[in-house]
Amino acid sequence: MGGFFGITSSSDCMTDVFFGVDYHSHLGTRRAGLAAYSKEIGLQRKIHNIENAPFRTKFETIFSEMEGISAIGVISDTDPQPLLVRSKLGTYAICTVGIINNSEELIERYLTSSDGGHFDAMTGGAVNSTELFAALVNQRDDFASGIKFAQESIDGTACVLILTDDGSLIAARDRFGRLPVLVGKRADGYAVSFESFAYQKLGFADEKELGPGEIVKLTPDGMTVLAAAGKKKRICSFLWSYYGYPTSTYEGVNVETMRYRNGAIIAQNDKASGTAEDIDYVGGVPDSGTPHAIGYANESHKPFARAFIKYTPTWARSFMPPSQKDRDEIAKMKQVPIPDLIKGKNLLFVDDSIVRGTQLRETVEFLYENGAKSVHMRSACPPIMYGCKFLNFSRSTSEMDLIARRVILELEGKEGMKHIDEYADGTTERGKNLRSAICEKFNFSSLEFQTFEGIIQAIGLPECDLCTYCWNGKE
Ligand code: SF4
Repeated sequence: MGGFFGITSSSDCMTDVFFGVDYHSHLGTRRAGLAAYSKEIGLQRKIHNIENAPFRTKFETIFSEMEGISAIGVISDTDPQPLLVRSKLGTYAICTVGIINNSEELIERYLTSSDGGHFDAMTGGAVNSTELFAALVNQRDDFASGIKFAQESIDGTACVLILTDDGSLIAARDRFGRLPVLVGKRADGYAVSFESFAYQKLGFADEKELGPGEIVKLTPDGMTVLAAAGKKKRICSFLWSYYGYPTSTYEGVNVETMRYRNGAIIAQNDKASGTAEDIDYVGGVPDSGTPHAIGYANESHKPFARAFIKYTPTWARSFMPPSQKDRDEIAKMKQVPIPDLIKGKNLLFVDDSIVRGTQLRETVEFLYENGAKSVHMRSACPPIMYGCKFLNFSRSTSEMDLIARRVILELEGKEGMKHIDEYADGTTERGKNLRSAICEKFNFSSLEFQTFEGIIQAIGLPECDLCTYCWNGKE
């Protein structure tokens, strides 16, 4: 995924940008970078690998190395950025968040065009997506038309933040508003952020949430809309159910309170169907399952308890060994049980989603090893049936890795793929078969998913404004 943050100000802003970018650390684990502008030095830039140490420790020396009244920064799950680009539009720093699916086609087109140039190739010949985006922007005569051209050329999603060589910021939300871009205002300038709480903590008040494809220019003195928002909006529903930070609000809907409502609806559905009535404790699969579980517990009047807790002090989230086996081993070592809350108990857990299920199997195993009487599982979202093609989203990779698809194949082969909608619906025969087959595989005492209607109700925005492709394949 990834997230960016920037400030344009009439006074030094390095400390605020440092903290603002740090507040996006949950969105990426690979690279982080900062670019700053000062009248004396002009544009400066630093990039670090954050796979083994968080942003904060890698960038703590920047206060003696960089200075600026305007600065941008990014936490990236993909390529190193921000990039410094010299072009006919001037010299600028640029970062992007999203994915370009047709990069090879665009690179070929660019390299063979009359004004074609070259790209810096990375290992294996790959091209940095932000560099590709900048190359497209530079084909037009101003930033607004360049960004529009780039966004219309790519198949995918790109939110953009640019720092120009006069200290202005140019921010653009992706064409269909799948990701948020928000603007905050303070007496000395403006901030641009993926997470609203990042600028609120720094004393900025909400000024504007960009609409789909909207482009704005910001200087310490004001904001100018360079391109108006488009009509079609498809904001990613997983922002609320999984990866958005609990303290953030997107489209006027806070993440944490959405999760409480969501858990409450799952509890109401369980009550209506008379399932999981003998529960001793409700808990969340940490961390993002926890608020959904709080909502469930409050609604069902069953006590909330943390039957196991993640040991995080020495396992930084950003530490991601390359092999899946090592990642699973770390996930296992992090989960520390509290036997008093497990032995002889009927437990119900809410997870943010059930994707591949690998780690859940191990979680359930160790709960039984610690004496659990039963382990019921609830997913805070409907079954994930389609891989995300719009974002670099960790919750869905290859479609055939998705547990729901794998089980459907096992149940009735390729024919099952014609009945995805029925399988998603827990009231149909196929839906029931899917749930009991997953229960058997993972040793759950019962399994239910939030309904499609339930999660839309919990988010509280019109369904047509939300991307729900992962669940129902609708674009
Ligand atoms: S496909 Fe899924 S993860 Fe991707 S943008 Fe849509 S809802 Fe979000």
